[in-house]
Amino acid sequence: METEIATTDNEVNTNEAVRSAVGLLQSGDVVALPTETVYGLAADALDPDAVEKVFAAKGRPHFDPLIVHLPHKDNVYEVAEVPKEIHKTVVQLIETFWPGPLTLVLPRKPVIPDIVTGGLATVAVRQSHHPVFHRILRNFGGPVAAPSANLFGQLSPTSAQAVMDQMEGRIPLIVDGGACARGLESTIVRVLPGEKKPVIEVLRPGPITEIELKKFGKVVFAERNEDVENSVPEAPGMLANHYAPQKPLRLLECPEDFVPEDGKTYALLSYRGQPKDGFIDLHDWAEVVVLSPGSGRVAEAGIRLFHMIRQLDQLDVDEIISEPFPDRGVGKAILDKLRKASVK
Ligand code: AMP
Ligand code: MG
Repeated sequence: METEIATTDNEVNTNEAVRSAVGLLQSGDVVALPTETVYGLAADALDPDAVEKVFAAKGRPHFDPLIVHLPHKDNVYEVAEVPKEIHKTVVQLIETFWPGPLTLVLPRKPVIPDIVTGGLATVAVRQSHHPVFHRILRNFGGPVAAPSANLFGQLSPTSAQAVMDQMEGRIPLIVDGGACARGLESTIVRVLPGEKKPVIEVLRPGPITEIELKKFGKVVFAERNEDVENSVPEAPGMLANHYAPQKPLRLLECPEDFVPEDGKTYALLSYRGQPKDGFIDLHDWAEVVVLSPGSGRVAEAGIRLFHMIRQLDQLDVDEIISEPFPDRGVGKAILDKLRKASVK
């Protein structure tokens, strides 16, 4: 199969890209689309055969459920139950964060096929903020299932070229909507009734942070990260890492943990490029990539994370060393990805 890239750099091209993408969705095919988080691999969420093609293209195991993206906020009631006890909070979250990078896990309605949820009684739903994605969904007129457009276990793509590198020959079309504005997968939460106030349980940290969520309830972080894609024990030697580059990547807690081996070359992934953090002058790095130069902003570091790891991965070095990141705000999501990408 030949994989085409459709550009959206002007109105004429965008119209054409939207038409092609909608046509593919309507004929039960998959198409890679830009969202504000990472690129997604989309298929008609109500058509099990179409969704099967998403699993096949990604090489994703079937127990790992997909996120369902909605054309309109109100569509949530068509695909999910919103239980009375949490209705008010769910509506507040939707009104505040949709369209945007917040995914809600809710009891599912029978219209959602088993293959989408891995047989779970719940479905994960969100509405994307990306203008091209939004237009394609509105024209298509129904929900699409769209996980990240990477091969299972590998780096999430934040550009059309990054999708092409992994998906060439596996899907018919990639709609190029530019670099992803948030650059990290959506925050996934579920709402539980609490004693004094509702509980918002974060199942996967992402661009929407604790500070933003805590206006609506008590925020807790799931003890066992429920990101199934990344918690499943793998057969030895297979997919030992997730969100992983091809080169070994090691997240360090402090500069003292770095002991270079003779003859090996290293690249540094730095948070803010500050000598006072102890890493920059530690070694004669083959390359240094700084995610948020200056005083450091974790949200900015998050936006550039996958893109920069991808660049480091293309260098001729033996290992990528990552500085630690602050365990707050978007930093939580960055640490989550780096821990999973890190060699064990
Ligand atoms: P992505 O690859 O970004 O589409 O994310 C899919 C992830 O969403 C899965 O790996 C799960 O972690 C999460 N997810 C999807 N559906 C559910 C669900 N019903 N319950 C809990 N987590 C879910
Ligand atoms: Mg993914």
